[in-house]
Amino acid sequence: MNRLFCVIPCYNEEAVLPETSRRLQNKMESLIKSGKISEDSRVIFVNDGSKDNTWNMISELHDKNPLFQGINLSKNMGHQNALLAGLMTAKDLCDAAISMDADLQDDIDAIDEMVEKFLAGADVVYGVRSKRTTDTFFKRFTAESYYKLVNALGAKTVYNHADYRLMSRRALLGLSEFGEVNLFLRGIVPMVGYNVDYVYYERAERFAGESKYPLKKMLSFAIEGITSLSTKPIKIITGLGMFIFFVSIVVLIYSLIRHFTGNTIPGWTTTVLSVWAIGGLIMISLGVIGEYIGKIYLETKNRPRFIIESYIADENDEAVFKKNEHR
Ligand code: UDP
Ligand code: MG
Repeated sequence: MNRLFCVIPCYNEEAVLPETSRRLQNKMESLIKSGKISEDSRVIFVNDGSKDNTWNMISELHDKNPLFQGINLSKNMGHQNALLAGLMTAKDLCDAAISMDADLQDDIDAIDEMVEKFLAGADVVYGVRSKRTTDTFFKRFTAESYYKLVNALGAKTVYNHADYRLMSRRALLGLSEFGEVNLFLRGIVPMVGYNVDYVYYERAERFAGESKYPLKKMLSFAIEGITSLSTKPIKIITGLGMFIFFVSIVVLIYSLIRHFTGNTIPGWTTTVLSVWAIGGLIMISLGVIGEYIGKIYLETKNRPRFIIESYIADENDEAVFKKNEHR
C-alpha cells in the first residue's frame, strides 16, 4: 500500500492554516477512502521559525487528528531549507511525498492527478502552472523571464513550476545525495532523474495573509538559483574579457597607423570612456567571481542546512523524526 506524505513549509501562516488543514484533511481522507493511498498517510507541517501562533496551531491540529504531524525548526531558515527538512524526514517513512505551499495558491485538487501518475510509475510529478492570471503583471513578468534566463544559462528547470511536486521514495533518496548548502530545489530535482511526469493546474490567489517573499528575498532567491546551479556567468565574463582584449589590439594597430601617418588628435573622449567602460567591466567581473567564492566558502563550511528544534509525531513514526532532530 502506498503511504503518502504532504510536506508544507509554514512561515507565519496562522491566517491560512485552518483552511489549508481542512482542505488537506478532506483530500487525504478521500484518497484513503478510494484506496489509492494507505490509511497511515500523513501531512507534515514544517514550522520555519514563525513568530506568530503557527506552531501552536500545528500542535493543536495533531491533537485533534493524527493525520497531522509537525516539525519545528530552531529558527527561520528559509522556504527551501524548511521544505528539505520535511522531505528528508518523509523519505524514510513514505512511498511518495508531495511538497506544497501553505497558502493554497497551489490547487489541492491536482494531488489526485499526481497520485494517479505516481501509481502509473512516475517518480517525479511536477505541478506546472497553466496560467498565472492571478499573479500581478510584475510578478508574472519577472518570474517568466527568470525561468527563461535560468534555462538559457544551462540549468534545467521546469518552466512555470514552483515547488509543488510529488516525489517517490527513491527520488527522495536521490535528492538526499545532493549535499549542497546553497539549496535551489527546482534546479536540483531535475538532476535526480527517473521517470518524470507533469500535472497542470491554475494558480490561485493566496488564500489569506501576505506573501513571505518580499522583493528583496525574491531577488536573492533568483541570484541564488543561477549561481548555485550554473557556472556560465563566469564563462560569459571570460568571453567578454577576451573580446575586449581583441578590440583593444585592433584599436592599438589603428592608433599606431594614425600615429605614423602623422594625423593624431588627442582623444579625450575615448580615453575617458574606456576608463569608465573597463572599470565597470572589472567591477562586474569581480562581483560575479565574488559571488562564486562566497558559494565555495559556504559549501566548505559544510553548515547544517536545517536544525530541528522539536517535532510532533505518532509513536510509529517517532524514531525517524528523532533521528533528524539534531542534524
Ligand atoms: N515560507 C517559509 N519560510 C520562509 C518564507 C516562506 O517556509 O522564510 C513558506 C510560506 O509559509 C509558504 C511558502 O513558503 O508556505 C511560499 O511562500 P509565499 O506563499 O509567501 O511565497 P509566494 O507565493 O508569494 O512566492
Ligand atoms: Mg504563495
